[in-house]
Amino acid sequence: MIKRPFFALTKPRLGYDIPEPDPKEPKSMPLPSNLILLLHDPIDDARETLIKTGDKVEKGGKLYLYKDSKEYTVSPVAGTIKIIDTYSDDFGNTSTYLVINTDPGRTAGTDTVKYELKDTIASADEYLRTLPGAPPLKTLADPDKKIKTIVITCADSDLLSTTQQYIALTLMDKIKEGIQVLRRITPVSKFCITIPENLNIKADIDTVEVFRTSGAYPSNLPQMVLKDHLNIVLPAGKKPEDLGICFITAEAVVSLARAYKTKTAGHEKILTVIGKQGTPYRVTATIGTPLRRIFNAFSIQANEKDRIVIGGPMKGFATYTVHHPVQPDMDTVIIQDKGTVPELSDNPCVNCGKCIRVCPVNVPVNILVRYLEAGHYQDAADRYDLLSCIECGLCAYVCTARIPIYQYIRLGKHELLKLNADV
Ligand code: SF4
Ligand code: SF4
Repeated sequence: MIKRPFFALTKPRLGYDIPEPDPKEPKSMPLPSNLILLLHDPIDDARETLIKTGDKVEKGGKLYLYKDSKEYTVSPVAGTIKIIDTYSDDFGNTSTYLVINTDPGRTAGTDTVKYELKDTIASADEYLRTLPGAPPLKTLADPDKKIKTIVITCADSDLLSTTQQYIALTLMDKIKEGIQVLRRITPVSKFCITIPENLNIKADIDTVEVFRTSGAYPSNLPQMVLKDHLNIVLPAGKKPEDLGICFITAEAVVSLARAYKTKTAGHEKILTVIGKQGTPYRVTATIGTPLRRIFNAFSIQANEKDRIVIGGPMKGFATYTVHHPVQPDMDTVIIQDKGTVPELSDNPCVNCGKCIRVCPVNVPVNILVRYLEAGHYQDAADRYDLLSCIECGLCAYVCTARIPIYQYIRLGKHELLKLNADV
């Protein structure tokens, strides 16, 4: 198997956005009457679930399907479970969605569930996985990972998003508090923080190494941060945590600081929303809020065949429902008018070579895509560097034939994982 890591980086061509110099407070979304929560645990029809429709839930209450479930979600409101059903993602993976009917009276009260949080990573992992920013507590708590370095990211990883930078600009004291929490609850000795080089912010944090990241995409992707600032080349098919390095967003660190102070979970997620004319908005919404509510608040009309992208333009994925809920790790939402959505095609590759020239890790994309189109995933990995791809999306962005290369790559990696899991 070719194990070519990424090196020989070519010059990226796109620039990250930065927030306005004196950013305003995000617009706060009112609490919707129904919240939608995703629970990464599929329903097993042969078993009776612990939670049922009609059950009352508490604000901050943990919800899980079965006694032995390893996955849970947390209700941001007091209310009643209205629907429990199966949810399928874009690769056909199933999980569960819950619709919670909000009880405004009980939610506005002070009756939030208090957690018995201890200064251990296991305790944090028991209650705080779904905090805004989705702290990677499972990874930090995994004894097999042996995390020795934490990298806090104030640099947004995709284009157009300014969510993490906004948090760095306005909540640096909370980030510092959160770092103290991480120092107490983990044995990690090395802390680093990424800050965009063109973001006017001081980051003088005791014993935390500051990485000033370039404004050129894809410098903020974890693989690039490792390469440029820690001098580590991530081997093909590996994740940073396989090397004992864990990335955590600035927002997640702030959420941990607040949770440890109040012994409760926060539920308000900060998002960058990009409207149809490209206008950026910044909002705070309760996790589980359907996107439709946010579009309505900005008078954005979502029509049939408009495209809603969760995440940035390079790495995001499309959803066709305005009911998609705000998630703990959702930094950006883009809505594109159907008239401006770039058309994908089933045109064949014209061998223009643009994808190869733009690829930061020298993947032979033009050949790789042929294997992926044909469903030859193992060959794609063994002979054409599928696993070296860092999923920056630049090849799809420049493709003359408008081949959805990035989607093929994600699908290929997903199918390969399944194939290898079945062996
Ligand atoms: S997404 Fe495309 S350009 Fe980016 S690393 Fe992968 S193959 Fe290369
Ligand atoms: S950019 Fe598109 S058309 Fe050009 S070589 Fe790559 S895959 Fe083929």
